[in-house]
Amino acid sequence: MKYFGSHVSAAGGPENAPLNARSIGATGFALFTKNQRQWRSAPLTGAQIDTFRARCLEEGFVPRSILPHDSYLINLGHPDREGLEKSREAFLDEMSRCQALGLDRLNFHPGSHLDRIAPDDCLDRIAESINLALDRTQGVTAVIENTAGQGTNLGFRFEHLARIIDRVEDKTRVGVCIDTCHAFTAGYDLRTAEACERTFAEFDRVVGMKYLWGMHLNDTLKALGSRVDRHAPLGEGVIGIECFRYIARDPRFEEMPLILETPDEARWPEEIARLKAFAAE
Ligand SMILES: [Zn+2]
Ligand SMILES: [Zn+2]
Repeated sequence: MKYFGSHVSAAGGPENAPLNARSIGATGFALFTKNQRQWRSAPLTGAQIDTFRARCLEEGFVPRSILPHDSYLINLGHPDREGLEKSREAFLDEMSRCQALGLDRLNFHPGSHLDRIAPDDCLDRIAESINLALDRTQGVTAVIENTAGQGTNLGFRFEHLARIIDRVEDKTRVGVCIDTCHAFTAGYDLRTAEACERTFAEFDRVVGMKYLWGMHLNDTLKALGSRVDRHAPLGEGVIGIECFRYIARDPRFEEMPLILETPDEARWPEEIARLKAFAAE
């Protein structure tokens, strides 16, 4: 089964996200379980957790169709002790919130070296941050997202993802989310079925398809290898529609959340319907 959805609003609490997802015809969704621009949020209440779980059940959203995303403030490879500790504490809270909600994965951007430590040292720090969080939680997989490589963000090469995974102790609880916009602007071509074939073969060789726990489906406004992150509606950017047809039809992308982060919310129902139609071809 293919789970298509978008990153929906959790305004008023995460328990509202499954309703927002259902209203746009989604079969999966992404959400923030807390305010993504603040370090601290009130803990989830028992009532919120119960309502979230009940609504997911009613609307037919299984954990593997849902991809929670952590706060943008967290940098698990932070060069400074204080910044690193603050990030690790916040990440543990994010993982714990997912566990409480009955979710089985948490998507996050790996981290940035801020030009103060070597990229490899930053990647090793990220792996250690993941190990610390996995030690203190259960049942939630840490899902590293590939990046466009803007500024000092790491994770734009498949080799970066492989290095982090290599240093994570529990390989059953580490995975990857590939964002098509980020992959393309990082230099991995996706414009044709043949290009997709080559890029995912490269991903399988360097990282391994078994580590794929989700996808972000975004077209892009920026050129191949530009390392600039600007999302576009499916088929209206430089990647073009063929890539999304390829992913919708390929069985390797089943049983995981396939999430739109495209800029125009009003068009999500139409984009989801289009993906469903491709999958049914
Ligand atoms: Zn993304
Ligand atoms: Zn992006």
